[in-house]
Amino acid sequence: GCDAAATAAAVRQMAETIEQHHTELTHLDREIGDGDHGANLVRGFRAVVEKLDADEPGTPGAVLKLVATTLISTVGGASGPLFGTAFLRAATKVGDAETLDAATVSDALSAAAEGVVARGKAAVGDKTMIDAFEPAVQAAQSAAEEGSVADVLEAAAAAAEQAASETAPLEARKGRASYLGERSVGHVDPGAQSTAYLLRSLATSAS
Ligand code: ADP
Ligand code: MG
Ligand code: MG
Repeated sequence: GCDAAATAAAVRQMAETIEQHHTELTHLDREIGDGDHGANLVRGFRAVVEKLDADEPGTPGAVLKLVATTLISTVGGASGPLFGTAFLRAATKVGDAETLDAATVSDALSAAAEGVVARGKAAVGDKTMIDAFEPAVQAAQSAAEEGSVADVLEAAAAAAEQAASETAPLEARKGRASYLGERSVGHVDPGAQSTAYLLRSLATSAS
């Protein structure tokens, strides 16, 4: 199982991934948005790491809640409230469990994606982070039937990576990219790509 310390370590690994990829994410957002997605996330995850350094929570759910509230208050844009809601729903789903098993991790991912849909009203094919999130949830649920936490996160990451790359030919129907209409075609959606990076980093932490 995954305890509070492992959850916090995984969050630090997500922050490291964002450090590595924020320039590329901002570049993607320059193509079809306002060129701030990487900068938004790096600001948020740096604030998360500062809070973890100051006082690391004692349960996985409390770690996830700290991430949620920090992202909501620091990231801004569309992605701040959306990722914030994702972490908040995940936190609520895991409750005060001391350790997370494969089924709980899969259910938390599901709850996170449902939160993003409830907040942003995007469907699969709208060229948003949901295009990466939904296939990741499906893959995670299948993997959770027999697999470990690492298997669940590996399945989710692989599905999200594939799906993020498949956003390129789509025309955006939600968010700033939708203002471009068919000029949004030909570029990967920044939020789908960042979702894939975050899930890949979770899978790496769990393996
Ligand atoms: P902003 O567009 O406000 O500058 P960001 O650049 O940080 O915010 O995030 C943009 C990303 O947010 C998009 O690439 C897309 O994946 C995601 N996004 C935007 N609107 C929605 C929505 N309604 N539902 C889901 N995801 C969305
Ligand atoms: Mg932007
Ligand atoms: Mg913006």
